[in-house]
Amino acid sequence: MGTTPAPAKVLIGLIGAGIQKSLSPAMHEEEARHHGLRLHYQLIDLDRTGASAADLPQLLAAARTMGFAGCNVTYPCKQAVIPHLDELSDEAREMGAVNTVVIRDGRLIGHNTDGSGWARGFTRALPGADLSRVVLLGAGGAGAAIAHAVLRLGAGELRIVDADPQRAAQLARDLNTLHGGERARACADSASAMPGATGLIHATPTGMDKLPGLPLDAALLRPDLWVSEVVYFPLETALLKAARAVGCPVSSGGGMAVGQAVGAFELFTGKTPDAGRMEAHFRSLVTPKEVAA
Ligand code: NAD
Repeated sequence: MGTTPAPAKVLIGLIGAGIQKSLSPAMHEEEARHHGLRLHYQLIDLDRTGASAADLPQLLAAARTMGFAGCNVTYPCKQAVIPHLDELSDEAREMGAVNTVVIRDGRLIGHNTDGSGWARGFTRALPGADLSRVVLLGAGGAGAAIAHAVLRLGAGELRIVDADPQRAAQLARDLNTLHGGERARACADSASAMPGATGLIHATPTGMDKLPGLPLDAALLRPDLWVSEVVYFPLETALLKAARAVGCPVSSGGGMAVGQAVGAFELFTGKTPDAGRMEAHFRSLVTPKEVAA
């Protein structure tokens, strides 16, 4: 009598601080089940273990020794991990940040699926969006990844606003050096950036549960403007509510959260995930049951 072969086992981790609420374990483990894989996604929470980014060499060595297929990497390790890797993808090198480390034949290869993940979610939610004049609010880690991605998608002009004007100016310089031309420029504030814009990408923490509110004056929203939100705790932010009320087409922060996981899953397992299924699962995780019903 023949025996059914055991499903392949895959070990993945997430290294970062304060990651207990991460939905990555659920997203990866559920998608793996559909591919006949037994995938375990381990949270390696620096806050829980008293470790820091300085411990990355030991953590990566342990993951390699224990046969991990790779690790996602988040705050505060996305830049700090780079010197400890053997190789970087073009995208990770461009961004100077890594969110996915693949371990293959003992080598550590850094990738970045944040920008491509945002692009994946954005183009699914808002196909054919006018990228002529885009405002990016927030030039931190998420904003920088998205800025590269939106220029790659063909944005004509990218106006960058940040509470820290130096950060906006530095990102604009980096983007223009890398992508050529003068498509990116820093603007002093959203009031001066928004006139004539075709779209708004919001990448500051404003609107998160712990930082409620609007990141800009709602009077600056117009029905002919699309709005892409990055915050996804909660999924329906004050900005999305205000934008919907005005009649703007919108994409939520869930698109990027799912998109980066889709890219990482493919890199870790070599399998093509079903992005629509992962998104539906993500929505079931973040939507309260009584609302989902
Ligand atoms: P960060 O701290 O690196 O950057 C935030 C930037 O916003 C800073 O440069 C800050 O100066 C600027 N800022 C803050 N308030 C502002 C305001 N009112 N106007 C203009 N600029 C302002 O943070 P980050 O890692 O880039 O994360 C930003 C947000 O994106 C967080 O809420 C995070 O949860 C979310 N995020 C979502 C995803 C996703 O998958 N959807 C991925 C990464 C981050």
